Amino acid sequence: MGAGRFAPSPSGELHLGNLRTAILAWLFARSTQREFLMRVEDLDRARAGAEELQLADLRAIGLDWDGPTVRQSDRMPLYSEAIDDLRSRNLLFECYCTRRDIAEAGSAPHAAPGTYPGTCRDLTESEREAKRTMRPAALRLRSETTDFTVTDVLHGQFTGVVDDFVVLRNDGVPAYNLAVVVDDGAQGIDQVVRGDDLLSSAPRQAYLAELLGYTVPGYAHVPLALNAEGKRLAKRDGSVTLGQLAEHGVGPEEARSMMLCSLDLPTTSLDAALAVFDPTLLPTEPWVFTTDPGEKRRMRLAPENR
Ligand SMILES: [Zn+2]
Repeated sequence: MGAGRFAPSPSGELHLGNLRTAILAWLFARSTQREFLMRVEDLDRARAGAEELQLADLRAIGLDWDGPTVRQSDRMPLYSEAIDDLRSRNLLFECYCTRRDIAEAGSAPHAAPGTYPGTCRDLTESEREAKRTMRPAALRLRSETTDFTVTDVLHGQFTGVVDDFVVLRNDGVPAYNLAVVVDDGAQGIDQVVRGDDLLSSAPRQAYLAELLGYTVPGYAHVPLALNAEGKRLAKRDGSVTLGQLAEHGVGPEEARSMMLCSLDLPTTSLDAALAVFDPTLLPTEPWVFTTDPGEKRRMRLAPENR
């Protein structure tokens, strides 16, 4: 039996877009008889109290998960082990570049924009000694390919760039791409459901998973929720978290109904949605969320609407 997961970053409250992705991850896992695991990605931007609030909101909309909630901050030895493994195989190199250095160096001919230009890949030991005194080093993967193909339930075969990406930041924190791959591998996760803003990072992660000897998971990158301006939904859009909705008299069950409705699924319960869930019938367009009561009021008052 494989497993799916939801992996929120505890940087603030979850909004309807995040909760909708969580519902989808749950539906994908449960409809394929997988376990559903919860992992808090708190290596970066963790805010005090946010984790408790997020987990309470996930429970409030009726989601359940298997086993204990896992925290990345408790798993540093696992990440170190993976880095040691890669280092011992000469698959890492020290990089002293700033973002600006990388932007100014430009990419190699035919390389995708933003791709690491390889500045530090082949420095001599004495060059490294000198650079180390200027700036702490990040560790990058010495990639042996330039692209990799993943399989996505919604996007089919997706081929994307694999460059010499960072696996350990220069502040000593494991990079997102490394932590995610190690966690998914160590937790036996073979189904990754998440927002389609992460589709372009899947080939890097899948390549790294293969290097570390893990089974590459199957993916489902689902459409995001957008605000009325077509931008990614955010808390400042108002009435998009369970807390904000409660102030307008909208409870968690009604919020869940709105999310299930946006997925063209039965709105009465998660089990009713699960009974008919079929990934091939999911909407492929983003969910534009415009039911902010304040916004409606402003629109009614606008001169052109009088
Ligand atoms: Zn560099």
